[in-house]
Amino acid sequence: MSSPVDERISDELEALKAILMDDFVVKKTEDGPDSIEYVVHPSTGDDVDQQFVCVTLEVRLVSGYPDVSPEVLLRNPRGLDDKVLKSIHTQIDKKLQDNLGQPVVYEVIELVRENLTRSNLPSGQCVICLFDFVEGDVFIKTQCYHYFHSYCLACHLKAGKNWYQDEMDRLPSWQQADTPKHQQTCPVCRCRLDLDFETLKSAPPPVDSINAPPFRLTAELKALQKKMAEILARQKAKGGVVGMGDNGPPPLTITSPSDNDGGSTSQDADKADALARAAAAEAAPGSPKAAPVYRGPYR
Ligand SMILES: [Zn+2]
Ligand SMILES: [Zn+2]
Repeated sequence: MSSPVDERISDELEALKAILMDDFVVKKTEDGPDSIEYVVHPSTGDDVDQQFVCVTLEVRLVSGYPDVSPEVLLRNPRGLDDKVLKSIHTQIDKKLQDNLGQPVVYEVIELVRENLTRSNLPSGQCVICLFDFVEGDVFIKTQCYHYFHSYCLACHLKAGKNWYQDEMDRLPSWQQADTPKHQQTCPVCRCRLDLDFETLKSAPPPVDSINAPPFRLTAELKALQKKMAEILARQKAKGGVVGMGDNGPPPLTITSPSDNDGGSTSQDADKADALARAAAAEAAPGSPKAAPVYRGPYR
């Protein structure tokens, strides 16, 4: 027989429903409510476009709750780095201690919301250029809550489209007709995107990239290039380059400065290519010819 649900819990759930409406999920077992899940956003009034961060809050109503502290998890954080998450966790722990014996879920939600409102700017870096988001940057939040400088995302989408077009041109025309149309995707999670390329393209480059010292191919970088070329050659020899030959853009690719417009260091890049070929041939004796080095989508 299932035990009766603590009245304090049923009252709490009723109150939550009145406040949060249908936006939260209660998971149940045969013994009653087991956990509560709610996606917390910063307070920005009704302006959803200004919400740059979010996190899924899960409160597990462990046996004995509310006389025992519930277990609180923060999942799928978007735009929040580990430091912010750790600070929220510390505050939650204190809140749980202070409220032992009374329902605390709404208090925890509000605490997380306050923190998100304070950190409503993506922390961390743009994964395309690896520069931070700083004041003056034009950035975009995708519907999957990933952040990029608009400029960087435009470059990425353009490269993706070029790659698609190249692959398409290689196909016989009868196959081209059956190939799905090009689709923009998020570079982080591959969620489908439908963004206005022209608007993205008009954004200025990241502020930090403008102020950064010009790129120099240092001895350290050259050594790294050599090391990477050898690793790639080994992987190729084993037939294990991730994504090679798939329909989508290969996630692991070789890019080289000669693929860019400037091409000032193309000689070095060609050397790296040559190295990779040589290493591949060496690592796979007997193979008639080393596979051509894929030059990546960034052009
Ligand atoms: Zn960027
Ligand atoms: Zn995404």
